[in-house]
Amino acid sequence: MAKKGDMLYAWTNDADIAKKAELGGAVTGLWKYALESKMVDAVYVIKKGKDLYDAQPVLITNPADLKDTAGSLHCGTLLLPKLVKKYLDGASKMKIGVTVKGCDVMGFIELAKRKQINLDNIVMIGVNCGGSVSPISARKMIADKFGVDPDKVHKEEIDKGQFIIEYEGGQKGISIDELEEAGYGRRTNCRRCKYKIPRQADLACGNWGVIGDKAGKATFVEVCSDKGANLVSGAVKSGVLATEPANPKGLEIRGKVEGAMLKLGEKWRKKDFTALGANMWETIEKETSRCIKCYSCIENCPVCFTAADALIKGSIMVKPGELAPNPMFHLRRFAHISDSCINCGQCEELCAMDIPLALFSHAIRVEADAMFEPKLGAASYKN
Ligand code: FAD
Ligand code: SF4
Ligand code: SF4
Ligand code: SF4
Repeated sequence: MAKKGDMLYAWTNDADIAKKAELGGAVTGLWKYALESKMVDAVYVIKKGKDLYDAQPVLITNPADLKDTAGSLHCGTLLLPKLVKKYLDGASKMKIGVTVKGCDVMGFIELAKRKQINLDNIVMIGVNCGGSVSPISARKMIADKFGVDPDKVHKEEIDKGQFIIEYEGGQKGISIDELEEAGYGRRTNCRRCKYKIPRQADLACGNWGVIGDKAGKATFVEVCSDKGANLVSGAVKSGVLATEPANPKGLEIRGKVEGAMLKLGEKWRKKDFTALGANMWETIEKETSRCIKCYSCIENCPVCFTAADALIKGSIMVKPGELAPNPMFHLRRFAHISDSCINCGQCEELCAMDIPLALFSHAIRVEADAMFEPKLGAASYKN
């Protein structure tokens, strides 16, 4: 029987899932058990669409369809919590399993605090996350830095500090540091992110620390809750999942990699925030001046659940029908959300005018967090 706190290597015995999986298919195998045992009514996860730049959310109710959802898409940057709130009634009527990155976990928790999501009906399998790459910049990076036609790439992975592609005719890897120095690589919010192992999910899964004969064939699973322990125990009993205790040396390596990633996140914060701090007001004023008021940043922010039009209509500072003037519109928005900003990057990525919005709200949030108690999420995540 698995229990909270266990550190395991896990892989699936389902050959169809294993073929498509990233690292042994533990995650997808667990979802298969969860659906078959009716622990959840549906699984809401990411699936590769037309190509590897096309990460699509799918709601799966038939366990046979799960195999198509296996595999990691590093150019998949969407966030699930607001979609669950908007399109699945905040999990009020059905039990839903979700595969989550750290920013997804934080989004679920923030929306639950605001009573927009019923966390009792959510099972979260977390995946460690070194970062994700915007699909647009990934295409450009592959063309410019790798000299490869992005449409010829059939696989990408991030391993040992490199972004690696497989394409018709070969394989190529370039160090993430080199790519980021040249303005490519992970999204800027991901570089600053310090939520690498999602321990607030029910399980935290990843490749860090898998060594020996299991390297590349199994996933490291940290059991983070009783719900997660029941899921693992049931899946093992059903035969879909196999586990063994994690190698102690592997556990040590995993700790070191996590520590190095946290230091890297801190380095990027220092770099980004220092540059911004030198001229914060002028930078915000200049950057936000090209805003076209599409309100996508409001609609897609996981900590803001008021619909954009309600926010605008309900305002006492902006008359109905009037566009809020710059930069007041943005200062008000930052005042609304910055104390809860989880640095998920959605506002920035989905901004029609490429305004570095997450940088601004994250900088404000981190400064406030350094000064005030309690910290956002209390004894929990560090975002
Ligand atoms: P599979 O059985 O192959 O299942 C993978 C699951 O991930 C599926 O449910 C799928 O829907 C979901 N998924 C795929 N892409 C995304 C996405 N973009 N967002 C949300 N869910 C997605 N592990 C580390 O140890 N270090 C890392 O630095 C690291 N970075 C990662 C970055 C990203 C963007 C992702 C998605 C995963 C990362 N992982 C990392 C986790 C690792 O790649 C594997 O997902 C994990 O080990 C589980 O492997 P598996 O074979 O059991 O999963
Ligand atoms: Fe991963 Fe953090 Fe980026 Fe989310 S914000 S995709 S958890 S690195
Ligand atoms: Fe995410 Fe931007 Fe909202 Fe912060 S302000 S939580 S980065 S969408
Ligand atoms: Fe303005 Fe960008 Fe927000 Fe649209 S998403 S309202 S352009 S800041």
